[in-house]
Amino acid sequence: MADQDPVNPSHATFDLFIQAQTCKDVKNHFAELCKQLNIDPKDFRTFYPKLKERLNYWKAKALWTKLDKRASHQDYQQGKACTKNKCLVLGAGPCGLRTAIELSLLGAQVVVLEKRDSFSRNNVLHLWPFTIYDLRGLGAKKFYGKFCTGSLDHISIRQLQLILLKVSLLLGVEVHTGVEFQGLVEPSGDNGWMAKLQPTSHPAAAFQFDVFISAGGGRFVPDGFKHKELRGKLAIGITANFINRNTAAEAQVAEISGVARIYNQKFFQELLTETGIDLENIVYYKDDTHYFVMTAKKKSLLKKGVIKQDYSDAEELLAPANVDYEALCHYAHDAAYFSTGGKLPDLEFAQNYAGQRDVAMFDFTCMHRAENASLVRERRGKKLLMGLVGDCLVEPFWPLGTGIARGFLAAFDTAWMVRSWGMGVAHLKVLAERESIYQLLSQTTPENTSKNYGAYSINPKTRYQRVNLSAIHPNQVSAIILYLLNRDLNHSLFNHDEDSVSGFEELLKWCQRHTAGYKNVNVTDLTQSWKSGLALCALIHHFRPQLIDMSGLEESNTIHNNQLAFSILERELGIPPVMSAIDLANSGQIDKLSMVFYLTQVQNAFTAPTA
Ligand code: FAD
Repeated sequence: MADQDPVNPSHATFDLFIQAQTCKDVKNHFAELCKQLNIDPKDFRTFYPKLKERLNYWKAKALWTKLDKRASHQDYQQGKACTKNKCLVLGAGPCGLRTAIELSLLGAQVVVLEKRDSFSRNNVLHLWPFTIYDLRGLGAKKFYGKFCTGSLDHISIRQLQLILLKVSLLLGVEVHTGVEFQGLVEPSGDNGWMAKLQPTSHPAAAFQFDVFISAGGGRFVPDGFKHKELRGKLAIGITANFINRNTAAEAQVAEISGVARIYNQKFFQELLTETGIDLENIVYYKDDTHYFVMTAKKKSLLKKGVIKQDYSDAEELLAPANVDYEALCHYAHDAAYFSTGGKLPDLEFAQNYAGQRDVAMFDFTCMHRAENASLVRERRGKKLLMGLVGDCLVEPFWPLGTGIARGFLAAFDTAWMVRSWGMGVAHLKVLAERESIYQLLSQTTPENTSKNYGAYSINPKTRYQRVNLSAIHPNQVSAIILYLLNRDLNHSLFNHDEDSVSGFEELLKWCQRHTAGYKNVNVTDLTQSWKSGLALCALIHHFRPQLIDMSGLEESNTIHNNQLAFSILERELGIPPVMSAIDLANSGQIDKLSMVFYLTQVQNAFTAPTA
């Protein structure tokens, strides 16, 4: 090619990498590029600068300009905000990869795990204007020339994944495909948090991390998070992809960006009369495929023989054994044909990942939503920040196309949380802020988010019009992390067995052991026994006698004692108070969960092995 340096094969390899259309090709061309340029992709910190330096090719430079612009944003602090953090991201769907990119821009080491080894989802996602702007800023058009040309505002999941995978790799993110995450492995010995993987011998199983982001999709809920079920009236979705031969005739056919029954009764009535197909809504996007998504009425599916037998339970109703696949193909085909006015006469199904006709039927009567977006676990003095993004945080309602928009918003919010974590913000505050922002997510629309897309960054204030970062107080999130500090607490917390001390017994005994013999200190519980402040002071004195003079303390001087203990613990051990000295002094206002959370941190700090 005339553009390339004939003696520099890396230019050709770079072009192949940019144009690659499968996950495997992207990874192979990337590996080849690294080999040719003699750069180790594992050397994440210097990878991107070295790549820029060694690949002196104008096409690459145009891309660097874009990526450098993003990377130069003040939020990333020149890639130094999270240099000490190691992040494991579960899932290389669009939201996992988008999060990984942000974390790497913050300077963190990022490893992504993906159980599939191909990107095969033809389904097309609607993009809000800010996501188009965002993706353009990452060079989407350079990877995929057709990206959102003209009025197009959608992209297939696989194309989106390919773009984000390429950006991730260029920025030094390690992406492993064909490896399944099976759970967290708690710290032991010198090891920190790790992951149990399948295959077990996978090299990423040795990766130790302090941040874990789950972007595992709809039903993937990591240990410790709870999902709420939002149940609506029965909703049966059908997706269908047909081959796009990109002929002039196909190009003429108008897309349907969403037509709902209530707005166009005539259309749906005619569809029913002519075909027996009864729909609530239908969307048609022209992309790599002709993509249709529709919500079908149960009665017509039964009548057309798509569903064999009626059941009230949606799972039974749509179980593979109760679905006639041929009839489903006819149903989807006829709906597609009718809704495009017969102008797509040669509708032939594209193939799905399994090599079958790409048609599927889902129940989206129940949408899931995580109760909280973040958690901190701590075992053997090693903290782990956990966050959810994408469908695993809030499942989208497909016809509204909220998946990617809300997914990206959450990816940015999560990166903001990791930034605070990396910068040493007290973790209760990190969580409180993340949960405050999360409260807004389900209400976001293109209308109520900022229109100044150019100013969008991971800072939530640049995106949400009204955001109160302290809507939730750190005290309120203590319960979220509490259970994770000590697994034994789990039982009593989630059984709401508040009065039982069984779950807290170990902590109580530890406190009693180390405060025994101090004057006016008698620890019998995890609330009232602490109100004078003397027990806390005694704990400090027991472990660090030089920090506190017990002889000068009066039992009745409660607020002073509490304040003194709080200040010492914050200054010397970095443990922020979870309640005010007045609240602790006031016996009616001692929050047991907060107190257990606080004392567990004190215990961890005093018993952590010294370096
Ligand atoms: P996903 O894209 O689901 O990615 C999650 C990734 O995590 C997957 O690649 C998965 O393989 C991986 N993973 C999961 N568990 C593990 C594990 N244990 N170890 C390693 N990897 C793991 N939206 C629309 O707008 N239109 C549609 O027609 C549409 N159809 C959909 C059809 C289906 C079946 C599903 C599940 C979703 C559909 N969506 C649709 C929603 C849309 O796909 C999501 O909003 C979008 O993909 C969100 O991206 P994500 O990264 O959060 O999750």
